[in-house]
Amino acid sequence: MNYKNFQYPLETEYLSLAEQLKNEMLINHLKNNTTEINTTDLNDLIVMAKSSFIPNLFDMAIRLEKVDAAVCSFKLGMYGLCADCEEEIEYSDLEQDPAQPRCQSCREHSRYHHV
Ligand SMILES: [Zn+2]
Repeated sequence: MNYKNFQYPLETEYLSLAEQLKNEMLINHLKNNTTEINTTDLNDLIVMAKSSFIPNLFDMAIRLEKVDAAVCSFKLGMYGLCADCEEEIEYSDLEQDPAQPRCQSCREHSRYHHV
């Protein structure tokens, strides 16, 4: 399976999301200035954004986390494999969302269990 064409869009989305998140955190005064934000680890910013409960910021952080995981899985050579069962994720699902971390059956499964 060739996943190469998903890598660039994911990396691009990752970088632009990281910028958006930083801007949004400045606007919401979670950090005082750009220097402070750029010296903070991005993972810490994500945690902070999630615990802020500002809806916009929360969604951005969740998405960034998901995209980050997908970008990392490329580096590990694990891209396209389900995070739960390690089976291949349906190609059409990756076309819809290249950051999709789970196969269809695991998504069904977790949906069923979370209802
Ligand atoms: Zn699965």
